[in-house]
Amino acid sequence: MTTILRNEPLWNKTTFRIGGLADRLIYPETNVELAKCLETDKAPVVLGGGANMLISDSGIRGDVISLERGFREVSIKNTGGGEVIVTAQAGVRLSQLCAALMSKSVAGLEFATGIPGLIGGALIMNAGTGGSEMKDIVESVTVMTGVGVEKTIQAGECGFGYRSSDFPQGCVITEAVLKLREGGAEDIKKKIRSIQAERKQRQPLQYPSAGSVFKNPVGDFAGRLIEEAGMKEARVGDAQVSAKHANFIINMDKAKAANVLKLMRIIEEKVHDKFGVKLEREIRLVGDFNG
Ligand SMILES: Cc1cc2nc3c(=O)[nH]c(=O)nc-3n(C[C@H](O)[C@H](O)[C@H](O)COP(=O)(O)OP(=O)(O)OC[C@H]3O[C@@H](n4cnc5c(N)ncnc54)[C@H](O)[C@@H]3O)c2cc1C
Repeated sequence: MTTILRNEPLWNKTTFRIGGLADRLIYPETNVELAKCLETDKAPVVLGGGANMLISDSGIRGDVISLERGFREVSIKNTGGGEVIVTAQAGVRLSQLCAALMSKSVAGLEFATGIPGLIGGALIMNAGTGGSEMKDIVESVTVMTGVGVEKTIQAGECGFGYRSSDFPQGCVITEAVLKLREGGAEDIKKKIRSIQAERKQRQPLQYPSAGSVFKNPVGDFAGRLIEEAGMKEARVGDAQVSAKHANFIINMDKAKAANVLKLMRIIEEKVHDKFGVKLEREIRLVGDFNG
C-alpha cells in the first residue's frame, strides 16, 4: 500500500545530508499506485538514492516519489551461451545488485561497485566509471509516463551520453533489463576489491558528498582544473572542496544547500577566469534556490 509522509525531511535521504522538507513524500508499491501518483498537475520529483542531488534548504513544494520501498525485485536468468539477463526494478540499490551478481558469479556490473544510489538514478545519470557505464549493459528500460502509460525503451533509444540520458520528460523509470555474462567468481571478487581500494584511496568517503560535482571537460579533469585554480579546501560555511579530490564538495558538519551552491559558483568563476573553461554541473539542483 502507498505510504504518504507529509512535511518529511529530505536531508537524511541524500548522501550530502542536506535538504529541507518535502510537502509530501510518497512511496508507491505497485505500478497502479505509481500511476495514481502521476495524476497530478505538477510532475512530482523522483528521488532515487539522493546521491547526485543537491536539495534546496527550503525543500520541495509538491510531491516527491520514492520507489525504494516497492520496486525492489530482481531476476537473474542464464539464457545459454554464457549470457545472463538481469531484470531489476528501479528501487533496487546498485550496491545490492552488485552484491547479488557477485554471489552468483555474474560479470559485467563490477564497474558500478561503490557508486551509491538506485537503479533508476543510475540509468538517468548513465552512471559509470573507468571507461564503463550503464549504457554498456542496458538492454531496455521500462518507464511510466505522466499519464500512467508504461513504455519499454530499447537501449539505443535512451539517449545515453556522458552522465546523461534522454528519457521522456517527466517519466518515472520502473525497471531495467541488463545484459551481463557468466564470470569467474575469483576474477569478479578481485576486480571489485581493486575498485573498492581505489575509491577509498581517491575519494573522501568519510564525509557526506554527492560525488563529482562537475563533469570532466573533454580531454581534462574537473578536479585538476579546480585544484589548479587554487580552490582545494576552499570553504563556504560547512561546505568544503575536498583536500583529497577537488571535484568533491564535502559536508563538514552542518552545510546548507546555499553554502554548497555558493561554493560551486565560486569554483565555476575561478576555473573560467583561469582556464576559460565553463564547467558543466553533474549534480542536480532540486527545489527552489532563489530564496
Ligand atoms: C561517494 C560518491 C561516489 C560517487 N561515484 C560515482 C561514480 O563513480 N560514477 C557516477 O556516475 N556517479 C557517482 N556518484 C554519483 C551518484 O552515485 C550517481 O549519479 C547515481 O547514479 C545517482 O543515483 P541516485 O539513485 O542516487 O539518483 P538521485 O540522485 O536520487 O537522482 C538523480 C536524478 O535521477 C532522477 N531519478 C532518480 N530515479 C529516477 C527514476 N526511477 N525515474 C526517473 N527519474 C529518476 C532524479 O529525479 C534526479 O534528477 C557518486 C556519488 C557519491 C556520493
